[in-house]
Amino acid sequence: MKILQFLAPNSAKPTIINQKQQSYGAISQTQIVLHRSNRQRLSINCSNSGNTNHKASTSSGESVAKTSEKDVLKALSQIIDPDFGTDIVSCGFVKDLRIDKALGEVSLRLELTTPACPVKDMFEQKANEVVAVIPWVKKVNVKMSAQPAKPIFAGQLPPGLSRISSIVAVSSCKGGVGKSTVAVNLAYTLAGMGARVGIFDADVYGPSLPTMVNPESRILEMNPEKKTIIPTEYLGVKLVSFGFAGQGRAIMRGPMVSGVINQLLTTTEWGELDYLVIDMPPGTGDIQLTLCQVAPLTAAVIVTTPQKLAFIDVAKGVRMFSKLKVPCVAVVENMCHFDADGKRYYPFGKGSGSQVVQQFGIPHLFDLPIRPTLSASGDSGTPEVVSDPLSDVARTFQDLGVCVVQQCAKIRQQVSTAVTYDKYLKAIRVKVPNSDEEFLLHPATVRRNDRSAQSVDEWTGEQKVQFGDVAEDIEPEEIRPMGNYAVSITWPDGFSQIAPYDQLETIERLVDVPPLSPVEVYT
Ligand code: ADP
Repeated sequence: MKILQFLAPNSAKPTIINQKQQSYGAISQTQIVLHRSNRQRLSINCSNSGNTNHKASTSSGESVAKTSEKDVLKALSQIIDPDFGTDIVSCGFVKDLRIDKALGEVSLRLELTTPACPVKDMFEQKANEVVAVIPWVKKVNVKMSAQPAKPIFAGQLPPGLSRISSIVAVSSCKGGVGKSTVAVNLAYTLAGMGARVGIFDADVYGPSLPTMVNPESRILEMNPEKKTIIPTEYLGVKLVSFGFAGQGRAIMRGPMVSGVINQLLTTTEWGELDYLVIDMPPGTGDIQLTLCQVAPLTAAVIVTTPQKLAFIDVAKGVRMFSKLKVPCVAVVENMCHFDADGKRYYPFGKGSGSQVVQQFGIPHLFDLPIRPTLSASGDSGTPEVVSDPLSDVARTFQDLGVCVVQQCAKIRQQVSTAVTYDKYLKAIRVKVPNSDEEFLLHPATVRRNDRSAQSVDEWTGEQKVQFGDVAEDIEPEEIRPMGNYAVSITWPDGFSQIAPYDQLETIERLVDVPPLSPVEVYT
């Protein structure tokens, strides 16, 4: 079995230069990418080889088996995942590859990261097609499965939230624009796509979830032993709302509201979910900020109406999320128009939505019309995407659902690989989000740049940890993402450093790192 390793020559001693010198990134980045993809392809070969049926005892039999396996993987590598921009073999989706060359039979499983994958059917069909055209293949059997991405923040989260793959905030700056309508219909669309979904109605002042859905049990139950909340459920979607807490509407001050929201969100036993949709309280104040910090949001969807004035509010929302490094993946412009007498009317004018998309680089804009059925279904307790799944409105929600699934997959991929430790180079590797740029940092320099109260006096700004206090050859024990804005680095002395990406970008970088030399080792 072949294993590909990256070894740096022992003499390699990286030097440090100022961040403005970018030569390292420019020269060796392509090499890194090249080696990586080699390693990925090879590791897939390795893991699958144990599964093939035709373990030949002779070397010629072995090479036949290898060639047929290569044929299949080469054929499958023509299928590109549109979200990750790379082929399905490199993505690691191919599992349980079994080949019987004598009979011409191939079976395999494609394991996707979400059951709601919008291109699931396309993958299945293409995999069947590309393998079937291999000359010796007579029969292909492709099975589909989904292994949801592991929650990247697990371990730093309240247990109730630790098995949720992606958390999506649906937000607006004003009440009454249709935020809850969008949140609920989006959630049921995702569920319709095959995902496990929950809705958290965080609007304590005006919880609308109890009107919009019709669960059998309208009261949240407590698990008396664990002191946790058990969500109620409607058509397979888990639901938590202050409106199901038996309290009615609340008159509370801000800090109390934050407390109640946090308690409801974090003490709920959500279980394993692909998506938790949070119907945010309207606005961009402290309540919203606290909520964003408690729940590691994956992405946000902003709901607005087309009036020009709404643009200012939306901009506020986008800025709030961008401060927390939560990407806004879509803007929904609600109540855009209605059709009457064979004509289309735009009662609020034509859109500030496109302005938002342009100005803030948000990739997707969705228009929803004024539709009495949308309002009626909201009041009846059955979301429109459920009661009329073939309507125009349901189609728009389907597009929004696909957008959310694809964007969350992209964001998760980025976040989970953003900062890693390269033990061969003894360097912390940082990938800049939304860019191909990658750079290396010296671990001791990162540790010395800690800005927490343990390292810097909060009042005087005086440096408490001195240069010599940090060993030159210190290595991180663990690096884990924290929300979208920082990583937590655990050092051998047990110190847990929170390093925001912004800060990592300003730290002196390593250059003159010897080029990576892949060494093939046979075991
Ligand atoms: P928010 O959450 O922003 O306060 P809601 O989703 O509760 O707003 O919507 C407010 C009201 O407007 C609800 O009665 C809802 O049914 C109605 N509504 C929302 N969007 C539409 C639409 N596109 N067409 C018709 N009625 C709508």
